[in-house]
Amino acid sequence: MNIRIYPDPILRKKARFVENIDGKVKDISDRMAKVMYANKGIGLAAPQIGILSRILIVDIGEGCNVLINPEILEGEGESVMEEGCLSLPTIEVPVKRMEKVFIRGRDLESKEVGLDLFGFPGRVYQHEVDHLNGILIIHHVSRLKRDLLVKRMLKELKHLQGKGCFL
Ligand SMILES: [Zn+2]
Repeated sequence: MNIRIYPDPILRKKARFVENIDGKVKDISDRMAKVMYANKGIGLAAPQIGILSRILIVDIGEGCNVLINPEILEGEGESVMEEGCLSLPTIEVPVKRMEKVFIRGRDLESKEVGLDLFGFPGRVYQHEVDHLNGILIIHHVSRLKRDLLVKRMLKELKHLQGKGCFL
């Protein structure tokens, strides 16, 4: 299973609310984890493997955390940091995010989970929730900058593929 790369249209779609947290959802999250680890990512959202469901996974060194139907209920402060994205290889852009967030969702047992996050972990979750709403890091910069970044990325990808690299 491959990661969907921009401009794949699925990356711009809003993912659907998960009604039943069943074995199918567990299968999806397992597949997502495989793809994330194979690509050395620290987070992944279901649309990135072509599934329009509100499921995200994060592993920032504390094991793989699956969050279903995540909602950012509160947020405050702001910070800017360079971010990359598995769906936008070779691109890194400064993204402004909330410094402190409270996120609610459900785990694979359908139990409600509340996460009080500060700094980097909160940033990773905000990045993945963005994916579920069809928003990518390049949508946090001006259209002019976005067009330039994407043009350069597509050129670099073509170059890499020519050398036999797989992306
Ligand atoms: Zn991403």
